[in-house]
Order: sequence, then structure tokens, then C-alpha cells
Amino acid sequence: MTTAEVNKETSHDVLDRYLVEHSMRRTPERYAILDVVVARRGVFSFDQIERELATTITGGISRSTIYDTINILIDASIIQKVNLPIKGTLYELCSNERHCHLICTACGKVKTVVDKHTDAFMNTKRYPAFNANSYHITVMGLCSTCSRKARKTKSND
Ligand SMILES: [Zn+2]
Ligand SMILES: [Zn+2]
Repeated sequence: MTTAEVNKETSHDVLDRYLVEHSMRRTPERYAILDVVVARRGVFSFDQIERELATTITGGISRSTIYDTINILIDASIIQKVNLPIKGTLYELCSNERHCHLICTACGKVKTVVDKHTDAFMNTKRYPAFNANSYHITVMGLCSTCSRKARKTKSND
């Protein structure tokens, strides 16, 4: 189930193959979007990708091209959609190790952590009449910045 790590080189090969197989054009924009996506750690939003491309590529890349390319990358199994509470639809690399998402309910920051204990536990879980092949764990709480702020406001009362 664990996919080999996706880096710049291997992801270019995967996208090359996909575009050729589907008789799609291998435009520089698609590879520029791929590079931005592959360099990401953890989850990312459409807007983050759009903003980053606007700073790295003169004139940026149109929303529809980004949108089409994101869907190509999902179909090519390079990235996947993640739906997180209070965050909505985000994306992450398919190759990311099995992990938990820590979501700050105050500022919305999402941290992706690999937790070996949870993973070991989940690997021992068996459910009746169900063959599990993946899991997604989301932990809600306050990030360190927001808990510091919360403590300050409390002490000012
Ligand atoms: Zn995830
Ligand atoms: Zn926070």
C-alpha cells in the first residue's frame, strides 16, 4: 500500500507516462504545477498552489489550467484529495507516509505527523467482515501559538 517516494525526477516520469498514455499535451505549465506540488510537505490547498505559482512564474498560471492539472495529478495517483473537518478539501502527496493530521481549531493550521505507535496499533486492528487497507486519523486541538494566546487572554481577565 505504501507508494514509493515521489520526488521531482520520479514524478516527472509518472506524469510523462500518464500524458502520453492519455494523448495529452506535455505543456511546461503542467510540469511547473507538478514541481510546486511535489515540493510540498503535508497538506496544501488549491489557493496555496495558485499563490505560489503566481510568485514563481511570470504572469502566474490560469485557475482552469491549475484545476485541470490537479485533476490529472489525482488521476495519475501522484496526489490525493483529503477532506478535513473545518478545512474542507485539501490535497497531499500519495507517497506521504501513513500519518495523522493535527488541526488547530483556532487558526486552522494543519500539521502532518507520523505516529509509529498509532500505525503499529492500526496494523493490528481487524474488523469483522471488513478488509481495511488504509486509515485517516484527524486530531483536533490548539497549536502552540494559539494555546499561548489562549493562556494570555485568560490571565488578563
Ligand atoms: Zn493525510
Ligand atoms: Zn493555531
